[in-house]
Amino acid sequence: QAPKEAPQAATRLPPASSVDYTKSAFPWTAEIAKTAKDIWGVRKWRPGQEGAINATMAGREVVAILPTGGGKSLIFQIPALLAPGTSVIVTPLISLMADQVHGLRSRGIQAEMIHASTSQAEIKDIMARMLGSAGAKGKAKKNTAEVVKLVYVTPERIEKSKTFTNTLQKMYDAGLLTRFVIDEAHCLSTMGHDYRPSFLALQRLKVLFPETPILAVTATAPQNVVSDMLKTLGLPRKTSQGAAAVPGTTVVFSAPLYRPNLRYQVLPKPSSAQAALDAIVDWILEHHTGDTGIIYTLSRADSENITKGINAHEKAKGKLKAAFCEFAIRILESRVIAELQGTDHAYIDDADKQRVHDHWRDKRIHVVVATNASFGLGIDNPNVRYVVHHSLAKSLANFQQESGRAGRDGAPADCVTFWRAADASRLSSLTYETFHSGGKEKLYEVVRFAEDKKTCRKVLFARYFANAYDSSDAYDVKDADSPCGLCDNCQRDPECVSTVDISEPAYRALRIIEAAIAQRGTLTLPQAADLVRGLGGGTYSTQEAKGKGKGKVDVKTVAGGKVTLSKDETEQMLLQLLVDSYLKEDFHATAYSVTSYLQPASKALRITRLSPDDFASTGLPITLEMDVLVKSNARKKRKASVDDKPEAVARKKAKKAVELEVSSDL
Ligand code: ADP
Ligand code: MG
Ligand code: ZN
Repeated sequence: QAPKEAPQAATRLPPASSVDYTKSAFPWTAEIAKTAKDIWGVRKWRPGQEGAINATMAGREVVAILPTGGGKSLIFQIPALLAPGTSVIVTPLISLMADQVHGLRSRGIQAEMIHASTSQAEIKDIMARMLGSAGAKGKAKKNTAEVVKLVYVTPERIEKSKTFTNTLQKMYDAGLLTRFVIDEAHCLSTMGHDYRPSFLALQRLKVLFPETPILAVTATAPQNVVSDMLKTLGLPRKTSQGAAAVPGTTVVFSAPLYRPNLRYQVLPKPSSAQAALDAIVDWILEHHTGDTGIIYTLSRADSENITKGINAHEKAKGKLKAAFCEFAIRILESRVIAELQGTDHAYIDDADKQRVHDHWRDKRIHVVVATNASFGLGIDNPNVRYVVHHSLAKSLANFQQESGRAGRDGAPADCVTFWRAADASRLSSLTYETFHSGGKEKLYEVVRFAEDKKTCRKVLFARYFANAYDSSDAYDVKDADSPCGLCDNCQRDPECVSTVDISEPAYRALRIIEAAIAQRGTLTLPQAADLVRGLGGGTYSTQEAKGKGKGKVDVKTVAGGKVTLSKDETEQMLLQLLVDSYLKEDFHATAYSVTSYLQPASKALRITRLSPDDFASTGLPITLEMDVLVKSNARKKRKASVDDKPEAVARKKAKKAVELEVSSDL
């Protein structure tokens, strides 16, 4: 049964126009600042924190989207301390709640967690303390010091435990149910990447406890995920931004996802698997010997091969040890499964698997190799100094989330993507199922990001997320437009990038591909690149014979000649024609694999209708351009920048970070 639209805090709010929660003048302003300073040593708010605290303190329904490591926990921990009752924090993983409860207790705060391994006696005691004075009528007020300020539970607890719900009901009636917090709230949405069905039980909260405000926090939630979240929770679907929060709406805070300590760069990926592995090992050893990192790959098989490759690598011996992530994933998964099944065995008996995770945390294993999708949620290691993408992520949102696992402690960290144009076909094959329902656009966005050699990475992210949120408020646009000064594109000497006119090679390539397709040829992107460069005498495989038959294009008559760019440049050009819709992808699926073949798209006709003679005499009606690295120069410059610049910049950044946050507990 769908929850009713919340009657909501509207009655408690001024009926007037909008409120600006980002401004400091509220009755609790001094108190929250003092609490932050005294208990956490935090003297300066991070973007989004203060506004979100103000809005939730005011009893509003709040969604806070702040980057990983952005300080989402303080948003509910501080208000929890200042209220007489208990805040209930719904968290997807026991490891996450254990970390938080441990941290809070070390600061002398009454925090508890209830999960499958908690004994009945403990649960009983915790619930009694949640009820506090309401449970034991007439007790002196000083006993409220023992009232549990924060109780962490899994969604399964709300879904399945009647006693727990009854306790909440009593607290609610006594006015002691301060707020519900949904951590990692994107788990609520089937459209999110970590959907957890048990989160659906949370739709009950607004029905049973309409007056208790909800605060949902997450690091990644594009517009569609946010509205899905709101629908499930039964919160007002109309949203307004924290700086202009309108009564009756859900107040949304989104801080810039930009993290100044992360240095983004895209590096060329050699074409053979071994050479790509060598390049990664070299890069890690050169920049991060002894550091902790993550390598993201596209498939389990890739992860396994890379792990074995690193551990057997001559240069890596004694310096770099890798572990395949599925172990680590299983630790986290097994906890969730144990939770779901109401058993505690997996949580305790998985010592072996736990050890892999622990070894990574204490640096006996340096790098965890993981598939893009699976190793993410629950990674709470703050010292990750680098995240390497062995292949591009499937979307910029995924990329932002995955690379955001680096540098959670605020110290400089590297986010490096190894990229070659030919990887795009593999990516689209993997996103094949969703390709025509949004997957294509997402993929081409991230491809453009990887291909961009001029625009600051931070600016590229900002533009993307500003569009995704469909609101310029979601981003501080002024700030978003200023380059980071740290990424590869900011540090690259502009002379290393040259914009070349590719009208002629593009014309030739499209004519040749069109001729091959007209004769039922099939061409993957690398095959097309070979064909248009005249390799194999213009031969290609044909569809009927499943690769055995060969067709032939006479490149001279069809296109006036072959494409004379290098292999890499030709692949890059074909990719650009693809993302610019001159080419399109056609998928052939078998039971075991999906292959992406290139085909001319209708837009190509504008170009291919010209005969070679017409083209020779008049040229294309449009100019096609592509940015290429001017190699010799680039290599020299890049080496120079690697040698001195990053350290200097990192030092500067670190100093700035210290100035920004005089916090000592980081
Ligand atoms: P996330 O947003 O990923 O949940 P956390 O809440 O775990 O991030 O916070 C990450 C770290 O940043 C914690 O160690 C926290 O104490 C610290 N932190 C949070 N807010 C601030 C702040 N305003 N200044 C300094 N440190 C902060
Ligand atoms: Mg968190
Ligand atoms: Zn930059």
